[in-house]
Parts: sequence; structure tokens; C-alpha cells
Amino acid sequence: MKQRQMNPTYPKPLWFGQTKRWYDSARWRKVAKLHLSAHPLCVSCEAVGRVTSATIVHHNPPHEGVYERFWDSDTFEGVCATCHSGIKRIEDIHGYSQACGKDGLPVSDNHPWNK
Ligand SMILES: [Zn+2]
Repeated sequence: MKQRQMNPTYPKPLWFGQTKRWYDSARWRKVAKLHLSAHPLCVSCEAVGRVTSATIVHHNPPHEGVYERFWDSDTFEGVCATCHSGIKRIEDIHGYSQACGKDGLPVSDNHPWNK
């Protein structure tokens, strides 16, 4: 596998701080709880044949700070803490998400494919 140089000073996306209050809202807690009760298993673990309880609701494709996308339940995915930190780590290292949309193309504007 090709290794990339990690850049610890890579800037966070502009929306990073703004969305924190969306996650902190009572509405989000309610929506996330509802999603997890309907989809109790980690989708990333399930994909590789593991059965793990999902504890975090993640957006796939990422909302990237767009308010409407943040609340779009079609993008919700329940994941376990281990998978979630793995997803976040990849984003932090590369500076973009590797998630793909329904057309199979990377959704992040920062992805090299979209440059
Ligand atoms: Zn998992």
C-alpha cells in the first residue's frame, strides 16, 4: 500500500467548528437515537461480517457543513466508536473523506478526483 506523508498541521475544513452546535442540539440527539434504535448495528463492521453495536451516527456522504444534508436521514449510518475514529482518522490524514456517492464517485470537493 502506498504511504502518504502525514501533515499534522493540515487545516480543518471551514465548517468544522460550525457544525459542533448542530451535534450538540437536542434535535440531533433525538434524531441520532431514533436512527440507532432502527439501525442498531455498525454498518462498517457489518460490511466485513462483524456484528457490533452502533453508538455513533455518521454521515455518508459527509454533510460538509451543509445544513440540509446534515439532517438528511438518507445519509445516516450507525457506526461503532472504533470504526468512527478510523473514518475520522483517514479524513484527518488525507484532508478529505473517501466516501463515495450513489454514482460511485468521491463526494468530497477536496478529493483528488474532484480537483
Ligand atoms: Zn464498527
